Amino acid sequence: MTGRPLIYAANWKMNHGPAAAAAFAERFLGLTAPAPDRSLWFFPPAVSMAAVSQAVRSRPDIRVGAQNVHWEPKGAFTGEISIPMVREAGAAVVLVGHSERRHLFGETDEQVARKTSAVLKAGLAPLVCVGETLAEREGGRTEPVIIRQLEPLLDKVPADEWARIVVAYEPVWAIGTGKNATPDDAAQVHELIRFAVGRRGVPGRVPILYGGSVTAANIGEFLAEPSIDGALVGGASLKPDEMAGIVGRAGVTAAARLAATA
Ligand code: PEP
Repeated sequence: MTGRPLIYAANWKMNHGPAAAAAFAERFLGLTAPAPDRSLWFFPPAVSMAAVSQAVRSRPDIRVGAQNVHWEPKGAFTGEISIPMVREAGAAVVLVGHSERRHLFGETDEQVARKTSAVLKAGLAPLVCVGETLAEREGGRTEPVIIRQLEPLLDKVPADEWARIVVAYEPVWAIGTGKNATPDDAAQVHELIRFAVGRRGVPGRVPILYGGSVTAANIGEFLAEPSIDGALVGGASLKPDEMAGIVGRAGVTAAARLAATA
């Protein structure tokens, strides 16, 4: 048990333009209230970040994030967005290395490490995603794949600068498929990640979220697992009522976890 607020992150992917994003925020804010035991992170498409930042400005429990950034602050990189730009649009956090970036757009472990380092240097918080494909899991390669994804990050970011990094374990086969890892499977990988960063001298306990077909119906099972510090939610985060349901259940579970550590 951590005794720290849990994190609920919503990855909207390529959904909800500025008007739809503002409508989502209005409904969601009406369904939820700030709570000390949780932090809510929303990752809208880049063009909707300013609208969401504006809509949630009265809610200190909500942080807005970018789904992707370039590591350079400016320059001839057509189609890319820099960290200073997303900060200006209200972003405090950045999703790095989501499996769709890695597998659909060829983002490498080294690029993920460069982006993470740049995000930290700019004073924002990175949410770094790792996870194995189905073939890798079925081939018994989950552990080396996770280690391979972490190593360039550990090489690039000194151990004493990890305090702002949050990791998301997202098995690729569980994203958008309706298939979950079991809480026990997820917990084993979370422990592996903690072992891998710990042996490289990273102090403290790195927060690790689980992601992959999380819904209001199954969030409780994951949060009952002490090594899981929250969730990264894709499809279910697109509907304000469903996301509020996830957060509502999460709040109950988080309160129980905090009480257990008191
Ligand atoms: C994601 O996009 O990070 C994700 C976990 O998606 P979903 O919840 O739809 O599986």
